[in-house]
Amino acid sequence: VIGDYTDFYASIDHATNVGRLFRPDNPLLPNYTYLPVAYHGRASSVLVDGTRVRRPRGQIKRADPTPVYAPTEMLDYEVEIGMWIGGGNELGVPVPIEQAEEHLFGFCLLNDWSARDIQSWEYQPLGPFLAKNFATTISPWVVTADALAPFRAPLRRPADTPASLPHLRSEENERSVAFAITVEASLRTGNLSEAHVLSRASFERMYWTPAQMIAHHTSNGCNLRPGDVFGSGTVSGPSEHERGCLLELTSRGADPLLLPDGERRTFLEDRDEVTLHAFCERDGFRRIGFGTCSGRIVPA
Ligand code: CA
Repeated sequence: VIGDYTDFYASIDHATNVGRLFRPDNPLLPNYTYLPVAYHGRASSVLVDGTRVRRPRGQIKRADPTPVYAPTEMLDYEVEIGMWIGGGNELGVPVPIEQAEEHLFGFCLLNDWSARDIQSWEYQPLGPFLAKNFATTISPWVVTADALAPFRAPLRRPADTPASLPHLRSEENERSVAFAITVEASLRTGNLSEAHVLSRASFERMYWTPAQMIAHHTSNGCNLRPGDVFGSGTVSGPSEHERGCLLELTSRGADPLLLPDGERRTFLEDRDEVTLHAFCERDGFRRIGFGTCSGRIVPA
């Protein structure tokens, strides 16, 4: 059973790519390198792999001054890693960064379905609401943090970024707290029998680590409980094939994707099926797969 669900924004490449669409000269907001930005999501609509996703209706503002209530025309997915919280903390007692991973039970795949046209009208000033809470799909099993021990890596950040504040920093955290998980998104349209890979990126490049997300989330005394789920935020990388959502892949619909059978996509159409996969691989160790996280769009 899902407890509370929180969605982060931990990939600096994703934040930069998306920021550039709206603020070309100043893509990253000043808080980005100091705190793992997040919002509270909706647990009731977290779905398991294979559940169909109904195209949501919502308020959409086009050229006309008055918005319309209509099915979204900009339905997107976001490739994310989900993190299951075990343990938890008492209300009022922050989890120190050094102990944060003791509260991390394990990982899954997570697709944060997003309606971009609804989102752009509703999100200011309080952030995403109905553009994201109609569905979130997760993979059906948990890969424990212990199982990923061979795939840990040091924290690597761009050289021009500041050190985290002391409550979000520990030497141990920085030595071995990134996880080298490769994530992949693929699309099967109603007409394509084969799935087409849209992107492949590494969770290792995330700017914020799971431990830092836990420490930050509890830093004001907010209590986490067993069964809570975090979304990492879209996992993207610097190059084009590493972009973990259609918003990035098509520059908000300006550059349609050309699929192998000649179809074009700006955003998802009815009968499209998006599947996420992830794996860890290293010589001398057993390969670890994350199962599938899949959903097919049905009409509004
Ligand atoms: Ca997200």
